Amino acid sequence: MPELPEVQALSERLSDALTGARFAAVEPLAFSALKTVAPSPEVLVGRRVEAVGRRGKFLIFDAEDLRMLVHLSQGGRIDLLPASTGGRPRGGVVRFRFDREPVVLVKEFGTERKAGWWVLAFGDDGPLAKLGPEPFSEEFQDLVLNGSDSGRIHAMLRDQRQVAGIGRGYADDILHRSKLSPYRSLASLERPERERLLEAVRNVLSEALESERRRTGGLAAKLGDHFAVHGRYGTPCPVCGADLRRVSYQSHEVTYCPSCQTAGKILADRRLSRLVR
Ligand SMILES: [Zn+2]
Repeated sequence: MPELPEVQALSERLSDALTGARFAAVEPLAFSALKTVAPSPEVLVGRRVEAVGRRGKFLIFDAEDLRMLVHLSQGGRIDLLPASTGGRPRGGVVRFRFDREPVVLVKEFGTERKAGWWVLAFGDDGPLAKLGPEPFSEEFQDLVLNGSDSGRIHAMLRDQRQVAGIGRGYADDILHRSKLSPYRSLASLERPERERLLEAVRNVLSEALESERRRTGGLAAKLGDHFAVHGRYGTPCPVCGADLRRVSYQSHEVTYCPSCQTAGKILADRRLSRLVR
């Protein structure tokens, strides 16, 4: 689940800890997590970390004329460890050593193997080339205020080609904050609703970033303790007290408040109706 706030704050902590350090070793731990063939990851060794940043949900290490990207996907996490760490940790994806501590271990929970890393030559944007604008950009503002996307807003917010950095967690909270049904489309929104949506995107992400900036170290297993509605199906809505509902999909579920977002209407939950039938 790490989304823009988690990855941004993590990149700031890594930047503080590692800017100026040189890569000392790159230790791949999982088959097929490295998404590039050339340049070889060994060429990172000896190169100095000039900056650690973020684009969308990607963590970016700038190392002289190379760039190394990490994408954590749903279950990816990061441990910052002392130099004495070693072996083959459970769920290990890749481990980076520098000429100073900490050691950066990328690992992955669960059974999905989706976390990945890339080593890119100068001028190659790799997977960053496909990303849409950042949520705080004017380009995204223009999309929300004038766009005519006819798909569901929840899917649009999660589509990294339309806006980069938002996933299923903050999409739930953003729609709840803007009091919009997850089934509405951007094309169907009136101007005040569009303004409300844009404001909710920015406020929800800013507040989460503020909260993530209080975290120390890597990225722990348990994230998202500051979500208002995401993953809180069955508990009372923090605004009105009604029971939060969900719509389940194969890979995820959407949590919403019928009283705040759908004028009391309960959205059909296909998985549930299949079970009942
Ligand atoms: Zn509510």
